[in-house]
Amino acid sequence: MASLNQSDTYRSLDNQSNSFIGNQSEHLEGYDIDTIQEVQQDFYCPICFKLMRNVKQMECGHVLCEGCLQKHLKALAERGADFFCPVDRKPVDSTKIVSVPFVDRLILSSQVKCTYECEWEGDLGNLQDHIPHCEFSPTDCPNGQCHESIQRNKIDEHLKICKYSVVVCKYQHYGCKIKILGWEVTTHEKQFYEYHIDLIEASHSLLQVSNSEFQSSLLESQKLVTQIIDDNQRLQGKLKNIKTKHDAELKSEKLKLKMENDDKSGNLIIQHQETMKEYEVRHKKSCELNENIIIAFFVISFLMLCNKAFVVLVIGIFFLWKKT
Ligand SMILES: [Zn+2]
Ligand SMILES: [Zn+2]
Ligand SMILES: [Zn+2]
Ligand SMILES: [Zn+2]
Ligand SMILES: [Zn+2]
Repeated sequence: MASLNQSDTYRSLDNQSNSFIGNQSEHLEGYDIDTIQEVQQDFYCPICFKLMRNVKQMECGHVLCEGCLQKHLKALAERGADFFCPVDRKPVDSTKIVSVPFVDRLILSSQVKCTYECEWEGDLGNLQDHIPHCEFSPTDCPNGQCHESIQRNKIDEHLKICKYSVVVCKYQHYGCKIKILGWEVTTHEKQFYEYHIDLIEASHSLLQVSNSEFQSSLLESQKLVTQIIDDNQRLQGKLKNIKTKHDAELKSEKLKLKMENDDKSGNLIIQHQETMKEYEVRHKKSCELNENIIIAFFVISFLMLCNKAFVVLVIGIFFLWKKT
């Protein structure tokens, strides 16, 4: 195939809205990544030797990264050389360069590790979704003027020392409310030296006033405490007197109660003794009656035997007399 006039081709490509060569920023090389499975050697770009990104195929059948091909053709165009394949040096018609989506898909399904220090593993195609969230990926300092790139999980640490972070003056406790950037601290402290001194003096005199107020309030408190102690002692004395009085009253009440009980018991005993005596007398009389009845029984029995009515009469009169 006859080689195309490179400058014509380059010009014609450049005039197209989606110029293949495009601008410099799109000239990306292949994926610089560690795979965790074996990958076909054909998937590596013959120019950058990395896994191909946006695979492009030339008429000769060779494939390479879109970015690498753009760079290669641009360099040839700049030198005024004809376009040729970097593998077999066969002429290249840039209008016949085609994409190979199925190879792209195979490459993107390769198993890879995260580019940074983290543990992430997965499809190459998912890596670009992981990177913006990867704790170890570099990110720009949020302070626009800084332009430093910091590991994502160290941003907070960086912001504390970033010279473009807004900081408060170290005399803020004395009343300086001026906010400054990290790099302006020294200048601020020099420029506002007098102002800071004034703030410190004002704060000290305020402190002295509140100190004397505190002293007087302390004295008041001490007086109050002394008064409370006195009141307490007086109350304890009163309490002691009341207790003594109460004990004495209790004692006399107990004594009185005991004496009353003793009197009642004595009377009861005497009453009981008298009743007992009465019972004894009655018992004695009853015993005598029983004896008389027994005697009478024997006498009547004897007389019935003797059949002497006179003797019975006499004895009957004797008993009647004795009873009265
Ligand atoms: Zn490449
Ligand atoms: Zn070739
Ligand atoms: Zn990661
Ligand atoms: Zn910064
Ligand atoms: Zn200040």
